[in-house]
Formats: sequence, structure tokens, C-alpha cells
Amino acid sequence: MSRTKGKLYVISGPSGTGKGTICAELLKDKHNEFSVSMTTRDPREGEVHGKDYFFVTREEFLDNVEAGNFLEHAQVFDNLYGTPKDMVIKRLDRGYNVLLDIDVQGGLQVRKAMPESILIFILPPSLKELRRRLEGRGTETADKVEKRLGQALSEIKLIGEYDYIIINDDLETAANEARSIIEAESHRVPEAVRGIIREYENELQ
Ligand code: ADP
Ligand code: 5GP
Repeated sequence: MSRTKGKLYVISGPSGTGKGTICAELLKDKHNEFSVSMTTRDPREGEVHGKDYFFVTREEFLDNVEAGNFLEHAQVFDNLYGTPKDMVIKRLDRGYNVLLDIDVQGGLQVRKAMPESILIFILPPSLKELRRRLEGRGTETADKVEKRLGQALSEIKLIGEYDYIIINDDLETAANEARSIIEAESHRVPEAVRGIIREYENELQ
């Protein structure tokens, strides 16, 4: 575990662009942890409650909104999705980086609530390839694929609000680019300086 607080990474981009796949690559590093969202969407085949999502009813979700339990929440396509706040804060305090795979509306809410968060946008190489990936994943019906593709451009239009762009053409290249961003961010001056000064002070005592 690192001696400083971890960093919060928001990973957004159109559905099917490869956010989940890139997060899975980043999670091979034990300093990175995934924030499991709550959703009212039905589980897909193979998805595990507590690992992929916390699958809840609309009522349960709205109770959590009421209780102020979310760092951000939004309606995406036809369902509600939200980031449980407590787990994120705890993990950051313990020194882990936390990865949020969330949509752009959620990303912008996180930026407001925690301005030090780092926002990464994952672009597909083309909309044609995005369609191929969404269809290839085989998790959505044809009309849901169309809905997700229809939404892609309005998400991409908000890319200017993000800090980094990665084009997920070749997966290994894209994952390495994401790792480089995390590595570079870990060398940002303010926190590093405080840590280094503390270290020198401790050494002198
Ligand atoms: P998202 O989480 O953004 O909705 P996924 O990670 O589920 O997207 O990826 C959508 C589909 O595209 C999956 O079937 C995944 O295996 C595939 N995929 C992801 N990245 C690439 C890539 N670089 N090249 C080809 N296929 C990819
Ligand atoms: P899916 O249904 O494919 O798992 O996710 C659909 C979209 O919801 C994706 O863009 C994903 O990033 C987003 N999403 C997942 N969890 C959250 C969340 O907690 N908050 C927000 N705002 N979006 C989320």
C-alpha cells in the first residue's frame, strides 16, 4: 500500500467501447480497486451480485439516494446506476486507487464532488467498430444496441470535460496508455512534495 491517499479515476465512454475490458487490465495491479456500482438493471448471464454490480430494486435504489449514500447517480438508458460513496472514500484513505466505470453524467458529478479526480475518456476507433463490439458482446437485444449507439455521440460531445483520451483500438496499447496515465498521475507534485518533506523531517528526528 502506498503511504499517500489513492486517486480516483473515472473511466467513461460509449457503451461497448471497452471500459470494462480496460478496467480488468488495470485491476491486475493490486494498487487499483474497482468501485462496484448499484443498479436497477437486470443481471446479465454470468454477472455476480457484489462483484459486477449490486443489483437492487428501484425502491432500494431510491432509498439509497434519499439516505445520501451515492457519490453520484444517474439514469443511463432505462435504468438507474450509482456509485456507493463509503467504499470509495475508505479505499482512497487506505491508499488504493479507485476505478469508476461510469457514464459521462456521473463523471461530471464526480468532478464537482471531488475536483481532484482524474477523468479518462475511452473512444472506440470508429462507430462502426463500436457497433461490432456491442453486437459481438451479445449481451443486448438489437433495439438495446441501437439505443446504446444512439447515445454514443452525445457522450462523445462531452469529451472536452475530461482530462485524458484513450482510443481503444488495440487493447494492449490502450491498457498500457491507461497504465501510463496512472503512473504519471502518481508523480504529481503537490502530494509527492508533502510526502517527501514528511519523510525528510522524520529522518532528521
Ligand atoms: P464497455 O464496458 O465499455 O461497455 P466492454 O469492455 O464490455 O465495453 O467491451 C465491449 C466488447 O468489446 C467486449 O466483447 C470486449 O471483449 C470487446 N473489446 C474490448 N476492447 C476491445 C479491443 N481493443 N478490440 C476488440 N474488441 C474489444
Ligand atoms: P452497463 O449496463 O452496460 O453495465 O452500463 C451502462 C452504462 O452505465 C455504462 O456507460 C457504464 O459506465 C454506466 N455506469 C455503470 N455504473 C454506473 C454508475 O454507478 N454511475 C453512472 N453514472 N453510470 C454507471
